[in-house]
Amino acid sequence: MHTLDPTDVHTAPDNPAPDRWHWLLGHDRKMRLYISRTLVSGLPYIVGTIIAAYCASVGIMSTGLAVALVVGRALTLLAVYLALRSGWSQRFRDPSLALVQIVVALLWIAIVYALTGPMHAAMLPLLVLSMASAVVNLDVRQARFITLFAILLMTAVMALASALDPEVYVPKVQFCLWGLMACTLPTGLLNSMQLKRLKQRLKTQREELKVALTRLHDLATHDELTGLSNRAHVSELLAQYVERHRDGGEPFSIALLDLDFFKRVNDTHGHGVGDEVLKAFAQAVRQTVRESDVPARWGGEEFLILLPQTGAENARVVLERLRERFTTQQVSASVPSLRASFSAGLASPSPGDTLAVMVERADQALYAAKTAGRNRCCVG
Ligand code: GH3
Ligand code: MG
Ligand code: MG
Repeated sequence: MHTLDPTDVHTAPDNPAPDRWHWLLGHDRKMRLYISRTLVSGLPYIVGTIIAAYCASVGIMSTGLAVALVVGRALTLLAVYLALRSGWSQRFRDPSLALVQIVVALLWIAIVYALTGPMHAAMLPLLVLSMASAVVNLDVRQARFITLFAILLMTAVMALASALDPEVYVPKVQFCLWGLMACTLPTGLLNSMQLKRLKQRLKTQREELKVALTRLHDLATHDELTGLSNRAHVSELLAQYVERHRDGGEPFSIALLDLDFFKRVNDTHGHGVGDEVLKAFAQAVRQTVRESDVPARWGGEEFLILLPQTGAENARVVLERLRERFTTQQVSASVPSLRASFSAGLASPSPGDTLAVMVERADQALYAAKTAGRNRCCVG
């Protein structure tokens, strides 16, 4: 049956990722994101390499240490990249290896802090950068763990460095740096938790909106009692079919159906039983017509079926099948012996027909079926 998904606008098919970078990032959409995130997080490494080279050239750091740090960091970055790119990381619950990457980055920061002497304070912005990446890429529980881990790790490194080399790692300065770090990192964590909550709320609201939109669309296009398309919706579709047919498009038929002596059902058994019969009829129609046909409630006890790709004679066969089914079936659970029937008028478009003309012809055929004794189909 024709159904329009009002949420289609939100689920437009994804554009295939440009393939220019597949040798570096692979094809899997999610993994491409993880790998590019890893590569971006490695960008400070380039700056670090330049600074290490500068420090070695001006004698702040020994060349051996500068080379060891640059090569060591490059190898860990390469190992993470290979773990992601080869697919090896897919076996873990978090294939992005975000937690591992951040722990490794923090360990590197601690090592470099302890070994770079007068340059050590330069590590503090990188510490903040790693924590920012932690709060974006980890869940709240992991971010809390990483914050605690970073504070404990840096506390140990600062205490050890000021104990072993108090001239360079001046204890009073280290204490100030430690205080700053110990306050800054939890504040960042709090901000991230707020951000996560906001994101979650937005996600929930978006999902609720989607459900509401679908419900609204259903209400606007369907009849509440029978669940069939309503008159406005089927009229819109019909207008499209008539126009397309005028431009040489596909053949189609419409059938107007009206329950026979329905007033009598209401008067004898009550409105509730009348409603049951209407629902039973809608169900019988749904079970008889094809997926591509559009059955609709035209109003009261009148129905319209749009039968695409179907000429009048074939449509008549469908209606006869429906008549056989409906006239013999139980139509009300509260009055099991009750039987009902319908009369139908069929019309197919003639050249130059408007929608109104076509419906009028189907209506006249329905009237003919009624006057000929009901419980039959006539073609207009
Ligand atoms: P005919 O065979 O000539 O079509 O006779 P009829 O009694 O079916 O036709 P009529 O137009 O006289 O009566 C239609 C009845 O359908 C009257 C109205 O109360 C009833 N009806 C319309 N909508 C509903 C509905 O939603 N529920 C119920 N239970 N009855 C409805
Ligand atoms: Mg009627
Ligand atoms: Mg009727």
